[in-house]
Amino acid sequence: MSNPSLLILPGDGIGPEVMAEVRKVITWFGDARGLKFDVEEDLVGGAAYDAHGTPLHDDTMARAQAADAVLLGAVGGPKYDALDFSVKPERGLLRLRKEMDLFANLRPAQCFDALADFSSLKRDVVAGLDIMIVRELTSGVYFGEPRGIFPDNEGGRVGINTQRYTTEEIRRVARAAFELARKRNNKLCSMEKANVMESGILWREEVQWVHDNEYSDVELSHMYADNGAMQLVRWPKQFDVIVTDNLFGDVLSDCAAMLTGSLGMLPSASLGAPMANGRPKAMYEPVHGSAPDITGQGKANPIACILSFAMALRYSFDEGEAATLLEGAVQKVLAGGARTADLLGPQGGTAISTTEMGDAIVAALAASQ
Ligand code: NAD
Repeated sequence: MSNPSLLILPGDGIGPEVMAEVRKVITWFGDARGLKFDVEEDLVGGAAYDAHGTPLHDDTMARAQAADAVLLGAVGGPKYDALDFSVKPERGLLRLRKEMDLFANLRPAQCFDALADFSSLKRDVVAGLDIMIVRELTSGVYFGEPRGIFPDNEGGRVGINTQRYTTEEIRRVARAAFELARKRNNKLCSMEKANVMESGILWREEVQWVHDNEYSDVELSHMYADNGAMQLVRWPKQFDVIVTDNLFGDVLSDCAAMLTGSLGMLPSASLGAPMANGRPKAMYEPVHGSAPDITGQGKANPIACILSFAMALRYSFDEGEAATLLEGAVQKVLAGGARTADLLGPQGGTAISTTEMGDAIVAALAASQ
């Protein structure tokens, strides 16, 4: 049996710096626990544009389609700001998401105890928080037609976007969310605006249908998305998994992310339909961008990217135990006081470098054996 395959796309800015730390973790799992991957590396974003004149070469796209999972660092940077829209670094990322049809975006909001004081909310509201937002990623108002800016009849203009969802688009993301809930605390909350939007009524009905016909063992509730935003900052621990559409998910996942403090801590996964081997099409990436302001200074926090690999272990490779081990190692390192510069907070202190943080996490993994 060959090893599962992993395509690594470090990208631009701090992408290669944080990915170098993930590679140490991957090597450790191979050496210490026999959990080996066939790792390939390729270019994306500005790095691909520099080499090939396109932010994603067709060969790279084909490798991504063939891989068991893709792990991406970050794309973009000021060097590429003046490029035509069609070849901007972000287009490489969007092409990957679109052609792999990654319709379910998973954004965990997990608050490590050692960082609870970092949140803008009170410690008891966020300490121990562990929720997951599933956002529909390939449909809804960002893609619906008609769209555009048109002249109106009074000599002015009208801007139009269309919220559009089909039964199947709602059911497939709902199934992904129910599956996750089953692996967690068996609770799913679906959010829409069924009080004012027909697409919201359909969303609610279809999620309920999937529940009643396929997942009646999972506890399902429905909430209007505006109330959801309030509840997320009032008492986020009432949630386990939240499923919502593309637009509300965009806003609510950023809101939930901030409950936990730094951008350097936030992983994500984007999943599509199962492949022939049963694994979902999948891409894992930190939420943060290429951070040009700190690139090349050893200041980047590699934890978001390392936790993205932990998500790959859990959701692509069914290695939940290894994922928990890795998350535990991160927790231990933070509890021991190690901080990259972004985690220092107003009290200050001494920051460790990107490499030192990676090494500390590998050492904590080794100590947990
Ligand atoms: P950013 O996420 O790159 O940075 C925002 C702030 O957070 C910066 O001050 C940065 O130093 C800090 N930061 C981000 N990640 C960090 C980490 N791991 N450790 C420590 N500090 C970290 O967002 P931005 O500045 O708005 O965008 C910079 C570039 O990244 C732009 O070209 C943008 O288009 C691109 N971008 C890419 C992605 C992606 O690849 N998924 C996402 C967002 C932005």
